[in-house]
Amino acid sequence: MTTASTSQNDILFERAQLTTPGGVNSPVRAFKSVGGTPRFITRAEGPYFWDADGKRYIDYIGSWGPAIVGHAHPQVVKAVQDAAARGLSFGAPTLGEIEMAEEICKLVPSIEQVRLVSSGTEATMSALRLARGATGRDKIVKFEGCYHGHADSLLVKAGSGLLTFGNPTSAGVPEDFVKHTLVLDYNNVAQLEDAFESMGDTIACVIVEPVAGNMNLIRATPEFLGAMRRLCTEHGAVLIFDEVMCGFRVGLGGAQELYGITPDLTALGKVIGGGMPVAAFGGSAQLMHNMAPIGAVYQAGTLSGNPVAVAAGMATLALVQQPGFYEKLSAQAGKLVAGLTAAAKEAGVTFCADSVGGMFGMYFSQNVPASYGQMMAGDKTRFNAFFHGMLDEGVYFAPAAFEAGFVSAMHDDAVIEETLAAARKVFARLA
Ligand code: PMP
Repeated sequence: MTTASTSQNDILFERAQLTTPGGVNSPVRAFKSVGGTPRFITRAEGPYFWDADGKRYIDYIGSWGPAIVGHAHPQVVKAVQDAAARGLSFGAPTLGEIEMAEEICKLVPSIEQVRLVSSGTEATMSALRLARGATGRDKIVKFEGCYHGHADSLLVKAGSGLLTFGNPTSAGVPEDFVKHTLVLDYNNVAQLEDAFESMGDTIACVIVEPVAGNMNLIRATPEFLGAMRRLCTEHGAVLIFDEVMCGFRVGLGGAQELYGITPDLTALGKVIGGGMPVAAFGGSAQLMHNMAPIGAVYQAGTLSGNPVAVAAGMATLALVQQPGFYEKLSAQAGKLVAGLTAAAKEAGVTFCADSVGGMFGMYFSQNVPASYGQMMAGDKTRFNAFFHGMLDEGVYFAPAAFEAGFVSAMHDDAVIEETLAAARKVFARLA
């Protein structure tokens, strides 16, 4: 198929599909859920990026979380340039890695020792292996709608019964690989209690997004996280907070600080790399001593702790520690959410929204959802129309109904107001 379109996005998308499956290197980028042609990005600065046709967008995905200080922040770019000039990768330890570990341990008190990796997937996958290695148990508990990367044992949805083990959500994942993964309802304390009651002594760990950002934005209730902490302690299971998305996003100390709940292990990613591939997992020194080379749990990476990526991460972590950073970020997300809600109400469109720190959710439903099932009941058709309307107006939201959004420190009042002016037009058309 060849298109008569003169849009560079169309031309590039066609070309990309010849050599890359679906034309993209990560599925959600393909616009499959919303339809239409993905935008090919040529450059980004502050709260904006530009596509291959030269059109400017206000960006509300921020690379799906990392771009918290805005795109191409001069201090981050300078740190990367300086590090690159000293060499790209050594495969031997560096001072930068020590400094990054020290910074993470300082900012996230539940972490006494940390291992740097290159993606969130590696961080959660390794944390699971550590939990299994440390407990000598096989079973893991996850929650429907939480995403923890694409490791085999995590690509699983709930089985037919509440306490039956899950089914793979991807071809190529053997049933055998997910037979130890129990998938429960998010925010359902009774179900979690039942699971521990019936098989507590075989559960290695519970892994959770303490503020969920992969089924739109859904807050955990304090009771849910509290019960999880109590049950893990009582039964000798490891509690893993996957803060790849919410870490350094909902606040400086992440969701664990927000809720005042201390996990045994934490997975981090996104913001700690500032747009470069850095992720991490960490916890008590005692637990982390199970890792090779001192312990029996193996894990490794050619580019782990990469000096250029670590430089970007350290520059970003310095910027988010400036006084008032998270207060301002939260305030801007709050203004966006309040403004969108008001605009929808004025137009008579059923809509609500929520934000925690610098992440937000938009729901085409009466109430803010508390579980995957409630979230899935939202009006996807309306979201898609809203998405495309906003895209035409130069505002880029996540190209799928059920994803969280992100603001950066560069989304100032003028940027938010421009967004809301567009939203008022688009909601009026939807009504
Ligand atoms: N955990 C969470 C909570 C995530 O949001 C993501 C990515 N969106 C991952 C893990 C996987 O991270 P990565 O894409 O870097 O492998």
